[in-house]
Amino acid sequence: MNTLDQLHADIDARVQTIRDDNADWLCRMGCDGCCRRLAEIPRLTEVEWSLLREGLAALPPEPLREIGKDIAALAEQSSRPIVCPLLDRSAGACRVYAHRPVACRTYGFYVQRDKGLYCKDIETRVAGGAWDEVVWGNQDAIDHRLRGMGDTRDLTEWFAGWQESGDMA
Ligand code: SF4
Repeated sequence: MNTLDQLHADIDARVQTIRDDNADWLCRMGCDGCCRRLAEIPRLTEVEWSLLREGLAALPPEPLREIGKDIAALAEQSSRPIVCPLLDRSAGACRVYAHRPVACRTYGFYVQRDKGLYCKDIETRVAGGAWDEVVWGNQDAIDHRLRGMGDTRDLTEWFAGWQESGDMA
């Protein structure tokens, strides 16, 4: 079975194992480093967008308006890295945590062949000899499963389509 729910469950199991075996793991509430340094505008499959849209639709009007402004600004921004428009910058927390994309769930726990660990803080720890027993998740396998889940577009495109559809509250 290759549904988004199954994918989430598989990722959660890998993440939990790593956490259980390494009490000093860096990814935890209060660390928003990855959300503040995205290499690119997040890309989502259709099923990920459907879930994320549910989370966005459940937000109060004001934060949703702010997100809409930040996403519009992002579409015009050429410099990188970028701050995720879904981050509550003052709280340092994701506004749609339960509905976040797959990449946000694997970040810090999965590795991609030839592209490393992504997180510099974790890379530094690993280079210093920490966590050499860790069984990392395989990001290439996750990407392969995601490719079977429909059209993939930038967050800015999905959001603009939602606005244009008139389905937003
Ligand atoms: S969607 Fe949420 S968890 Fe993912 S990068 Fe944005 S703020 Fe961070």
